[in-house]
Amino acid sequence: MTPPTVANPLLQVQFQIPFDKIRTENVEPAIDELLNEARQQLEQLISEPAPRTFDNTLERLDHLTERLDYAMQIVRHLEGLVTTPELRAAYNAVQPKVSEFYSSLPLNEGLWQAILSYSLTDEAQNLTGVRKRFLKKTMDNFRRHGAGLDPESKKRIAEIDVELSRQTTRFGENVLDSTNQCEWVITDERQLAGLPESARAIARASAASKNLPEPSWRFTLQAPSYLAVMTYLDDESMRQKVYEAFVNRATEEKYDNRPIMRNILDLRGEKARLLGYPDFADLVLEDRMAHAGDRARQFLEDLKCKTEAHFQRENQDLLEFSGKSELEPWDVAYYAEKQRAALYDFDEEDLRPYFPLESVIQGMFEIVQRLYGISVVEKTGVPVWDPQVKYYEIYDGSRVHNNKLIGAFYTDWFPRENKRGGAWMDNLITGEMTREGQEPHVGVICGNLTPPAEDRPSLLTHREAQTIFHEFGHLLHHCLSSVELRGFAGVNVAWDFVELPSQIMENWCWEREALDLFARHYQTGEPIPSQLLEKMRNARNFRAANMQMRQLGFGFVDLALHRDIRPGSNIDLLAFTRNILQQFTPAKLPEHYAMIVSFTHLFASPVGYGAGYYSYKWSEVLDADAFTLFQTNGIFSPEVGARFRDRILSRGDSEDPADLYRSFMGRDPDPNALLERSGLLVRLRTI
Ligand SMILES: [Zn+2]
Repeated sequence: MTPPTVANPLLQVQFQIPFDKIRTENVEPAIDELLNEARQQLEQLISEPAPRTFDNTLERLDHLTERLDYAMQIVRHLEGLVTTPELRAAYNAVQPKVSEFYSSLPLNEGLWQAILSYSLTDEAQNLTGVRKRFLKKTMDNFRRHGAGLDPESKKRIAEIDVELSRQTTRFGENVLDSTNQCEWVITDERQLAGLPESARAIARASAASKNLPEPSWRFTLQAPSYLAVMTYLDDESMRQKVYEAFVNRATEEKYDNRPIMRNILDLRGEKARLLGYPDFADLVLEDRMAHAGDRARQFLEDLKCKTEAHFQRENQDLLEFSGKSELEPWDVAYYAEKQRAALYDFDEEDLRPYFPLESVIQGMFEIVQRLYGISVVEKTGVPVWDPQVKYYEIYDGSRVHNNKLIGAFYTDWFPRENKRGGAWMDNLITGEMTREGQEPHVGVICGNLTPPAEDRPSLLTHREAQTIFHEFGHLLHHCLSSVELRGFAGVNVAWDFVELPSQIMENWCWEREALDLFARHYQTGEPIPSQLLEKMRNARNFRAANMQMRQLGFGFVDLALHRDIRPGSNIDLLAFTRNILQQFTPAKLPEHYAMIVSFTHLFASPVGYGAGYYSYKWSEVLDADAFTLFQTNGIFSPEVGARFRDRILSRGDSEDPADLYRSFMGRDPDPNALLERSGLLVRLRTI
């Protein structure tokens, strides 16, 4: 007897996601079925006999993978949050098939011909608004994958893509292997002088994990170990050894990334030229907010000019403080930490009692209610994937009753063994825009925050509180979206624009008026004492010019490599990058400095942050600048809030982000707000 068929819960997009019914064994059959369905729909779209229209071509393309996206989002989400060996295996079985299907779309000749013939119709010529943008962006995307090129060039593009993916994977593996092969074991405790107890404990545990005899302390080039040595260890010769190993990773014969980096740059440059762009930066930036390599470079140049004098002053101060005649690269972090401790009598831990998780969340909801006129309410009895998870609904208007449901989201804040690290927002469902209006969206925000202890609730660091605001900003961008085409909804925006809605939220964590809504002592209910707040603010900008110059240097070197190095050039790339980075570094870099060949942001995936490293600073400029409109009109101004909601949060990618920004601010972004926030706008005193 066959058992009654139970419907596979992944096959139906449901606003109330049935987390209690989804089983690992649903994954493969559901994804296979949905992939087939998408393939069939693609065939139907291509072989459509009727004349081409928006509805039978682009509209169908926009919906082609809707059900597949939903199921895959849920599977990916569960794999990240409650993984098991079985779920991971099921995910790994379907993931390559799905990503192969997605990446085959812009290479599909039949689909390209369908879009091309639609583009020649009268209807297409007369499109406006988001539909016009959709047609243009779709065609641009196909062209960037080689559509419309002669067969020879198309073949070459395909070869380059395969080779790029191979070389960039290899680049990442070499960095990992080269990093992992270095270790230093210390057996004499006196050599640990300067190192705080927390770092000693990590080094002890690392030694124990390698079964080294006690007592021993093991140090590696992994970030926490490396940073602790550079920041605290008194032993200068050890700091030098570790530093030199760090900046020379991936230059050993076995893991040599030098020829690989050159290959990657050549391949990227060749691809750009085949597609008709002067260089890789112009290819990649075409559909970003910056649009072109020149614009990104000017942006960095401008910030560099405005930061340089402060940078020199900070370096002079540090040199004087150290009492040395010259600082080596392995001295900088060490003396800077001593200087920080001397200047600010401030311990981040003192703030924790003022940031109980629940109060931070409630205060944040209060802030967005004032700003955007929305109410957030918790709802219980909804299926979730872990008992710690909470579920909330967002209503339009300041009261829940009689108001429209516009979105829902889950929160999952504490670490677990079956959960991945970090903090993130994920969109689970993008609501449809129907004749009746916008259907609600569903998302999730996750983190690995300080959990509650036996005797106290979860008490956060100030940084953790900002993380919650940040992820909630991404969530609002998703949930407040109101865009006709799903591919352009919510957070589907350019890379250098996507952090504006999230980063701007962090600003409310620094303002007294806002802090008083949620930063209250968990036992006494007292707000943060003025003196403590003052210290917190002062410490924020310690060595801000150095931090800024470091990011600018990476942005410069990234653009220089992707713009100025011609394919096939045999220039010495290490010397080239070292000369650039030297201008942004407070100490003289060693002759053999090779940090660039372990820079995975730029070279460990076919595109990644390649030619896009500037985006970090770019989005900081946007959020600092946009926040000034709130500061000028009151940080709870419902007028400015409504404007931000209407011009930015609800628009997704329906218009060029530069236009969206202008329509909010009334002008282009101005970097001065970031300089002011970082304490870098004040004119230097001449002594
Ligand atoms: Zn973010």
